[in-house]
Amino acid sequence: MNAPEPLPKTEQTAAPVPRLEIRDLSRHFAGRTVVDHVSLRVMPGQVTCLLGPSGCGKSTTLRCIAGVDMQDSGEIHLDGKLVCDTVFRVPPERRSIGLMFQDFALFPHMSVADNVAFGLTGGKAERRARVEALLDRVDLMRHIDAFPHELSGGEQQRVALARALAPGPSVMLMDEPFSGLDNRLRDGIRDETLEILKEAGAAVLLVTHEPEEAMRMADEIALMRDGRIVQQGAPYNVYNAPADKAAAAFFSDIN
Ligand code: ADP
Ligand code: MG
Repeated sequence: MNAPEPLPKTEQTAAPVPRLEIRDLSRHFAGRTVVDHVSLRVMPGQVTCLLGPSGCGKSTTLRCIAGVDMQDSGEIHLDGKLVCDTVFRVPPERRSIGLMFQDFALFPHMSVADNVAFGLTGGKAERRARVEALLDRVDLMRHIDAFPHELSGGEQQRVALARALAPGPSVMLMDEPFSGLDNRLRDGIRDETLEILKEAGAAVLLVTHEPEEAMRMADEIALMRDGRIVQQGAPYNVYNAPADKAAAAFFSDIN
């Protein structure tokens, strides 16, 4: 009997490529450092939470990754390819990124179907099938021809999720996507959103100022303060062994 063929060297040693990697990212405004040498990775199928108090630089970091702002130093890689450093820059529309914001930012003059179809390419029938599959998944088929103002906050959030996922982006960037929602609904919507993101195999960078949300949703937490990542690890570890007193205090109001 022949011995099994050894795997080629590359397959033996290949580590998974991060969907998103930022290296040493810094951004200054008027001489003030708002993002300070931040390095982060988001692996396939994982939710990484960028967690920290208001004003610590989370949204600025996300805007640089999306390409609507540009860092002063550092690199951004998507799927192992450089998309931005200080001399080279892929424009936002050519980065494989899905975006979700607190205010959902749906197009008010477009139907639910047209909102979800916005980033799609391909033939009409193919686009329609994709829109219907997504709306079915977020349980909104009955509102396919409605306009955003006719929907509740929770429904608008689901349209925004479907729209962001539609083109099958490499990375989903979510900036406080649950903050605008009614308290009573928020936990349910978080769980449902997480289930849909996991099903889609999305790699997610979720920005939040709420420790509870990070504990509920993250595979990995990056704790940010004054522009820096002060601690990074699994939620359980960050919560149980905070890096310093300020980190402990930040988590202390979770019950
Ligand atoms: P977070 O999302 O964590 O609340 P931000 O990234 O929005 O924080 O902001 C971090 C800091 O950078 C804040 O002090 C904010 O005022 C400042 N900042 C953000 N954008 C700009 C800008 N375009 N010009 C000047 N200052 C800015
Ligand atoms: Mg913000």
